[in-house]
Amino acid sequence: MARIPGAVNSPVRAWRAVGGAPVFIAKGTGAYLVDADGNRLIDYVGSYGPAILGHAHPEIVAAVAEQARRGFSFGAPTELEVELAERIAGAIPAAEKVRLVSSGTEAGMTALRIARAATGRPGIMKFDGCYHGHSDALLVRAGSGAMTLGVPDCAGVPEALAALTRVAPYNALEAVERYFAADPKGVAAVIVEPLAANMGVVPPAAGFLKQLGELAHRHGALLICDEVISGFRLRYGAAYELFDVQPDIIMLGKIIGGGMPMGAVAGRAELMDLLAPTGPVYQAGTLSGNPLSVRAGIETLKLLDRPGVYERLEQAGARLESGLRAALAAAGRTGCVNRAGSLLTMFLGTDRVFDGESARRADAAAFARFFHGMFDRGVNLPPSQFEAMFVSLAHSDADLDATVAAARGALAAG
Ligand SMILES: *Cc1c(COP(=O)(O)O)cnc(C)c1O
Repeated sequence: MARIPGAVNSPVRAWRAVGGAPVFIAKGTGAYLVDADGNRLIDYVGSYGPAILGHAHPEIVAAVAEQARRGFSFGAPTELEVELAERIAGAIPAAEKVRLVSSGTEAGMTALRIARAATGRPGIMKFDGCYHGHSDALLVRAGSGAMTLGVPDCAGVPEALAALTRVAPYNALEAVERYFAADPKGVAAVIVEPLAANMGVVPPAAGFLKQLGELAHRHGALLICDEVISGFRLRYGAAYELFDVQPDIIMLGKIIGGGMPMGAVAGRAELMDLLAPTGPVYQAGTLSGNPLSVRAGIETLKLLDRPGVYERLEQAGARLESGLRAALAAAGRTGCVNRAGSLLTMFLGTDRVFDGESARRADAAAFARFFHGMFDRGVNLPPSQFEAMFVSLAHSDADLDATVAAARGALAAG
């Protein structure tokens, strides 16, 4: 443990926000995790998104094992990569061409580089509370002023770089309009999570994305939809289609890798052809499109592309949502549940969350008590008020009802 900073290889896994030391996981099967002490937990972390089929789905395990016997990676193209790109393009109209990478962070870095090359402009606009990976340009959020100059959110990011990123409140266009008015030819791209899920779940307001896309395009900027969480989560394809908006570039990850390292940047053909070797935008990866990740992704998408899958995810999400609302009411607690399909967040201590600022009004101390109350009752939640709970196809109604019973107990206990 002393050999790993904070004992974690990604900071969201630490229990800093809720107190205590994270448990080590021995294995996961279906809707459950078993920790190193042998305790079984109903899991709502789901690897932060990829585990939509549940953990260690037998068909994925068999496919990856079979693929492993054929070799792990070759530094040369494989037909599997073509198959995955075809599947993605077939499900997502904006994905005319697809470049596979190994993480959502890489997809974000590459999306920005393409946008800057295509427009010849340096500026980026993002939204407070949206996460797009940990690259320098995207780890920035505004201070209190809506349209302040970008200030680095993270030590080690040069101010000169951060200053190119402007941050606006989610679900509002005033700040976006103001920034475009001040610098009409400076913005290469606006990047947004069409369903925000990294400040807790915050669905887009009616018309927000459509108007945002129109505003960006009117000013010659590209629209990048970050679908790393939302892609294949709400429907078989991208979430942007639900909101009547036309992105130029999209980012994917998580589900399309079936639990293996994966990301993708995709978009209009002429933009994607700016990438090397056809174009001048350099991007590369030793393990990009490796057969194990790609096979896991293909098999996951095949299983998702079946009748009833997204209906079941919606039904499971709704069951949990109504149970949690009833648990809040029964305990006489203030709170709200934001949900889209199988993603949801219960915010405590506030009755409405629609952007980063309103999310930060939630009672993080109350959430910390709730998290531990749930853990003690056998339910593994993400260890932060500002994350989504991920429901999978492996969660049975009995699992969901047991979760609600645990929530009743945890909320009543304070
Ligand atoms: C997880 C996530 C990323 C980053 O993906 P990694 O694979 O962790 O680098 C980017 N955007 C969104 C919306 C995400 O949820």
